[in-house]
Amino acid sequence: MSTDAITLRAVSRQYGTGDGTVTGLDGVTLGFPRGSFTAVMGPSGSGKSTLLQCAAGLDRPTSGSVRVGGTELAGLSERRLTLLRRDRIGFVFQAFNLLPSLTAEQNVALPLRLAGRRPSRARVREALDRVGLADRARHHPGELSGGQQQRVALARALITRPEVLFGDEPTGALDSRTGREVLRLLRDMVDQDGRTVVMVTHDPVAAACADRVVFLVDGRLTGELDGADAGRIAARMTGLEGAAC
Ligand code: ADP
Ligand code: MG
Repeated sequence: MSTDAITLRAVSRQYGTGDGTVTGLDGVTLGFPRGSFTAVMGPSGSGKSTLLQCAAGLDRPTSGSVRVGGTELAGLSERRLTLLRRDRIGFVFQAFNLLPSLTAEQNVALPLRLAGRRPSRARVREALDRVGLADRARHHPGELSGGQQQRVALARALITRPEVLFGDEPTGALDSRTGREVLRLLRDMVDQDGRTVVMVTHDPVAAACADRVVFLVDGRLTGELDGADAGRIAARMTGLEGAAC
């Protein structure tokens, strides 16, 4: 049995057709072991977001295989794919994507409501408590700091108890102190809850919180570092990005 929460085999994603074809991902084979924390790095346009979206079932590859647990996504109808995403995958974005007219607790309850379930107050409070925001349940996003908003977004992603949590630059809009709080929560989700976390980041300090960093260039995997500190990660990134002038 595979110990990967998610496995990608030879995954490619092209955008457009004919002369205008753009390659987002080019033959990526990669597994995300259960209970591990992976950071994804690479220059702008290297395919990091495309990789996450394909792995999370938010986008369909042009070719190749994505398996979540034992389930091959390619054969699934849109409806089955939506259900699988809802039950097994959480996603947080750089821009938080909270609904401004809803309170924190209403935002957190939303995925369960959309699934046609009536979320218990205790479950919503527990999710907010998990991110240290039980006392902000009635606040609207506009009344919260950026770090607090991202923690609400994390609580919303956790309310369905997903096996895998994806973050596309989840600390990209935060200052370093609040970014560290979010990274600590992501680390705890792996260490305490046994979840699998996959995070895109530009920040070597953030990437050093992961167990492993994988590097993308032009849609291809170009290597990985296990258990590296920020200095080694930064040195590798500098090598990938080349001189600025
Ligand atoms: P990253 O997240 O590393 O910055 P992306 O995955 O967003 O990179 O993009 C990878 C490549 O695919 C880029 O060349 C980008 O312009 C292209 N791309 C991404 N999304 C689309 C799209 N919807 N339509 C056309 N090209 C796209
Ligand atoms: Mg991106």
